[in-house]
Amino acid sequence: MHLVKSIDVLLTMDPSRPGALGGLENGAVLMDGERIVWCGRSSEAPDAEFVVDGTGYIGMPGLVDCHTHMTWAGSRADEFRRRLAGENYTDILESGGGILSTVAATRAASLEWLTEVTVERLHRALSHGVTTVEIKSGYGLEKQAERRQLVAARSAGEKVGVSVLTTFLGAHTVPAEWRDKRAGYTQDVIVNQLPYVADVADFIDVYVDRGAFSVAEGKAILEAGQAMGLGARVHAEQVAYTGAAQMAAGLGALSADHLEQLDEAGVKAMAEAGTVAVLLPGAMLYLKDPAPPIAELRAAGVRMAVATDFNPGSSPVSDLWTCVSLACISMGLTIEEALKGVTINAALALGLSDRGVIREGMRADLALFRPPPGEPVSEAVLVQHMGGHKADHVWAQGRKLV
Ligand SMILES: [Zn+2]
Repeated sequence: MHLVKSIDVLLTMDPSRPGALGGLENGAVLMDGERIVWCGRSSEAPDAEFVVDGTGYIGMPGLVDCHTHMTWAGSRADEFRRRLAGENYTDILESGGGILSTVAATRAASLEWLTEVTVERLHRALSHGVTTVEIKSGYGLEKQAERRQLVAARSAGEKVGVSVLTTFLGAHTVPAEWRDKRAGYTQDVIVNQLPYVADVADFIDVYVDRGAFSVAEGKAILEAGQAMGLGARVHAEQVAYTGAAQMAAGLGALSADHLEQLDEAGVKAMAEAGTVAVLLPGAMLYLKDPAPPIAELRAAGVRMAVATDFNPGSSPVSDLWTCVSLACISMGLTIEEALKGVTINAALALGLSDRGVIREGMRADLALFRPPPGEPVSEAVLVQHMGGHKADHVWAQGRKLV
C-alpha cells in the first residue's frame, strides 16, 4: 500500500465533498494496487508500508486529455508559415495541404516508427501529469494505414503506462484518390475500414464541417460505428455551423468537440442528451476562431471538458496545462470549470466513471504539482501561470511513473 500524505491542497473533484473541486487541506490518499482505497485528512490516515510526503504540493487526479491526434508522421511547419502569411485553413486544405500532407507522410511511416514517436509524445504528456489520453486515427484514410495508427497508439500506451483510448476517424477528410467520388468514400469508411479496425478502437468520430463531411454522411458513419459497439464523438460546429452537435446529441454521442459555431438548438440538444462539450482552445487560437458559447453551455448545464487537440497542423499544442489557461483567458471558463474540464468531465467525455476523481474505489491515478517559485500552494496559480507545469510525482493505475 502507498500512502501520500500531508498534501497541502488536494483537489479530489469529488462532487460529494464540499467546494467546487472537493478540495481538502492537508489531504492524504491511500492506494492499494490499481485502486484508491481511502482518501481524507492526513490526521486520520491509516498506516501504510510506503509513505510519500506531499508537503508543498497540489494534488489532483491524473489528468485526462480527451481529444488528441497524437499519432502522426511528417511536419506542417511550412503550412504554419503560409497561414502566418495570410492563407486560411480551408484554402490550404483545398489545395492538398493541411490534413492531406499529414496523410501522405503517415501512410509512408512504419508501425514501429509511429509507435516510437507516440511513445515520446506520451512521455511528454505524462510529465505534465496526464495519465489518460484519447488518440484518434484519421491520417491513414484507408483501412491498413488507419489500423496501423490505432495499433501504434495502443501499444505506445502500454509501453509508457499511460491509459490510451483509441478513436477511429476514417472520416477526417476525403483523401485525394476519392475526391471525385465522395459518396464512395463514405461507403468505404463504413463497409471496408470500420470492420477492419473496430477491434482496436474504443470510439468512432467524424469531422463534420464545410469542406469535410456533411451531417447526413456523419450520421451514417457514427451509426455504423455504434452498431459495432463503438462510442460516438464528433468534430462539430468548428469552421461553419452545420447542425452536427444536434445530430450527435440525437445519437447519444459521448461528446461534441470544438463548438465555436454552436447555436441555441445545439446547446439544448446536448444538455438533454448529456453530451459533453469538449473545448479545444489550442485550435481556436491557431485558427483565430471565435469562442464557443460558454455562457449558454453553462446556463444549460452542459458539462464542459478541455483538451489539447494535439495535432501537427491546427493545434500543435502538447501541453494540457496551456489549454487549461487558454480555456479561461480566451473562452471565459472559470478556474474551477477548467480544472474539472481536464479531470472529471474529461473522463465523462470518454465514458469513463472510474477516474478523474480521487475517491475510494477509483483508479489510482494521482499527480502532485509544486506551484511556480515564490507562489502560494494554490490551484489558481497553476491556471494563472500559463503552461509547462511538470508533475513531481505521478501514479497511473497505482504504478509510480514519475
Ligand atoms: Zn480534433
